[in-house]
Amino acid sequence: MFSNKDEFKQIFLKRLEMSSGKSFSECSLQDNYQALGSMVREFVSNDWIMTNERYMKGKQKQVYYLSIEYLLGKLLRQNLINLGIEDIVESGLMDLGICLSDMEEMEADAGLGNGGLGRLAACFLDSLASLHLPGHGYGIRYKHGLFEQKIVDGYQVELPEQWLRNGNVWEVNKSDLAVSISFWGKVETRMENGRLVFHHLNAETVNAVPYDLPVIGYMSKTVNTLRLWNAEPSQFSPHKDILKYKRETESISEILYPDDSHDEGKILRLKQQYFLVSASIQTILKNYRKLYGSLHSLHEHVCIHINDTHPVLAIPEMMRILIDEDGFDWDEAWFITTNTISYTNHTTLSEALEKWPLRIFRPLLPRIYMIVEEINRRFCEELWNRFPGDWERIAKQAIIADEYVKMAHLAIVGSYSVNGVAKLHTEILKSREMNLFYQLFPNKFNNKTNGIAHRRWLLKANPKLSALITDSIGTSWIHSASELSGLLRYQNDSSFLEQMAKIKTENKQILADFIYEKTSIAVDSNSIFDVQVKRLHAYKRQLLNVLHIMYLYNRIKEDSSFECAPRVFIFGAKASPGYYYAKKIIKLINTVADKVNQDLQIADRIKVIFLENYRVSLAEKIFPASDVSEQISTASKEASGTGNMKFMINGALTVGTLDGANIEIRELVGDANIFTFGLSASEVLHYQQHGGYQSIEYYHHDSRIRQAVDQLVNGFFPGVQNEFEPIFDSLLGENDQYYVLKDFASYAGIQEIIGESYKKQQQWQKMSLNNIAHAGYFSSDRTIKEYADEIWGIKPV
Ligand SMILES: *Cc1c(COP(=O)(O)O)cnc(C)c1O
Repeated sequence: MFSNKDEFKQIFLKRLEMSSGKSFSECSLQDNYQALGSMVREFVSNDWIMTNERYMKGKQKQVYYLSIEYLLGKLLRQNLINLGIEDIVESGLMDLGICLSDMEEMEADAGLGNGGLGRLAACFLDSLASLHLPGHGYGIRYKHGLFEQKIVDGYQVELPEQWLRNGNVWEVNKSDLAVSISFWGKVETRMENGRLVFHHLNAETVNAVPYDLPVIGYMSKTVNTLRLWNAEPSQFSPHKDILKYKRETESISEILYPDDSHDEGKILRLKQQYFLVSASIQTILKNYRKLYGSLHSLHEHVCIHINDTHPVLAIPEMMRILIDEDGFDWDEAWFITTNTISYTNHTTLSEALEKWPLRIFRPLLPRIYMIVEEINRRFCEELWNRFPGDWERIAKQAIIADEYVKMAHLAIVGSYSVNGVAKLHTEILKSREMNLFYQLFPNKFNNKTNGIAHRRWLLKANPKLSALITDSIGTSWIHSASELSGLLRYQNDSSFLEQMAKIKTENKQILADFIYEKTSIAVDSNSIFDVQVKRLHAYKRQLLNVLHIMYLYNRIKEDSSFECAPRVFIFGAKASPGYYYAKKIIKLINTVADKVNQDLQIADRIKVIFLENYRVSLAEKIFPASDVSEQISTASKEASGTGNMKFMINGALTVGTLDGANIEIRELVGDANIFTFGLSASEVLHYQQHGGYQSIEYYHHDSRIRQAVDQLVNGFFPGVQNEFEPIFDSLLGENDQYYVLKDFASYAGIQEIIGESYKKQQQWQKMSLNNIAHAGYFSSDRTIKEYADEIWGIKPV
């Protein structure tokens, strides 16, 4: 398409004119973005087609990754980098007086996810394509991604997100490949030619229309596909109230549930899940039939991976097609299904384990319900045979119990692999949460520690550090992140460490300018940038961080000579709109921020910044500018975390509990290069089971705690009455379920050590380098290789 800058400019200008219908000087940045984006998209179309042909011809085993969320962020620059044309394009545009970074601002974040789970799916797609692996994503093309957050008067306000406002240059509509999805209606069972057949009558049908996005591997000819389904009215649905039908249909792909781990129990949500699953499974099986003639050996050539339980209806949906449409008997259909589907568990929080009331499930999906009932019947029979008379066990493990369908149980029973997302998480699954299932199917359980796309979170997000790394150890780390260990050579090289420090300060200055632009608050780039960015959740304990800031404030107010290393505390977090308590914490952070930032006596010793609308593109600005990574969840609650890995690879030092992947970070960098504190997971689990923790004692015995906790309710914050009573109550009235007060002293202690350590800059930079050098392990390339080898059995093409 183009091999040098001048060719690029020529083609770009021509396209710009054609697509915008304007002369160059009249074109807006948005016009420029649209022209460049569609040009890049077309640039890969040949490789895209060829990739699919290779997969078909070679009859390679392929994996389909089903996820209700994809948190993609922006695609333009990453695609340019992966195609190896970033420099040509950037300097060509520069010649034309266009700044690529400005142009990037025209692209909306594709925010089709809540947080870690959705971002993991996006990182996996990048790694699959970059490793030449035949793996595709299936998801929903939500018209509105995760809400846009504004902070007004300290409170979170949610606005509908509008990423499709200017269209999406990356997608290709393939309406000829639409499939039909059935809801409601009745199932009629008849004998025909000596077999039972099932007819789904009076169903309401909806069209699932695919929009395909190319997933471009890094410097590879592999272009995989992310297929997002759009819900549209079907032409043939005989309906009285056409408008109502149209509205109801379109609502299926209207909005992403802004719901991070709590479940709302809405019919629409279940409709979305089945919509994704049915469209995807129908398509996968149809294509397979076309290529192989029948579905008999499907499991030998296809893997279907479900990202958490949201797509678990893939199991009964496959059974439905195999039995009802292809005439398989139950046993063979079950064999094929359970050898095709693999499942990732993302949480052990019991409130986050999905279950659907039968009163919703049964009428909405009558045939699927029958199949789930039969799966359950057979599973309970098996349990009965193995543990005769153990009713209690059967009640605990049944897929249908207490008028609910338990989605995690269905996932475990109907798949051949169940993986957790970090070592500790998998151990807790095996020994506690899913122990009865582990006893039954020990070989299904395995661990795949999460990872991140290091080409986005380091190469793209932190160009200066990336250039330094490449200058010193060459480019091989871009393909194989484990090569970052080559940096260890420089750990005693003071000029190298100084260069690292300089880059960090420059990145901090860029963030400081951004903060000033957004909040009008000036922060000093020589302070410690101490950052907690992630969804707001009680278990993630933003509250512990805030109480510590209040303590530091109190300390400085009491003793103006109190020495503490100057810090900028930076927060970013969205709260689920219905999560009352989380919203209170946001208000508290902002209230503390106002108090601290406006206090002249505090000056530059502490600043508190809440950056609104935390999302992938904001995250990319924050990680490179961070010194301290706050990973302070109540031990045992954070399955893995991936934010922790993004910080690490950008040289931030972790202050964290021994939870999720923090444990593996510590194993890699050693105790000297991480700041850990607090209760261990087994201590937390012990307290939960046997009691013995009284938060009130910590309130009484630690004056730092008492002062800060009292300030929540004693008028210390002007103008907020009763506002923080729910927080006060959670800590004392409800005995502090997340052990915030229990861990306070240990957290304050480690923070003091962090302040001291930061003063020894050379030593700090050495620790930082150690973190970067060991972060290669957390590339999602490593994770995906493990999935490919140990779960999917797929090979590079
Ligand atoms: C990585 C990421 C997350 C997950 O962060 P955790 O700290 O692991 O919870 C959430 N949101 C965005 C935008 C991310 O990039």
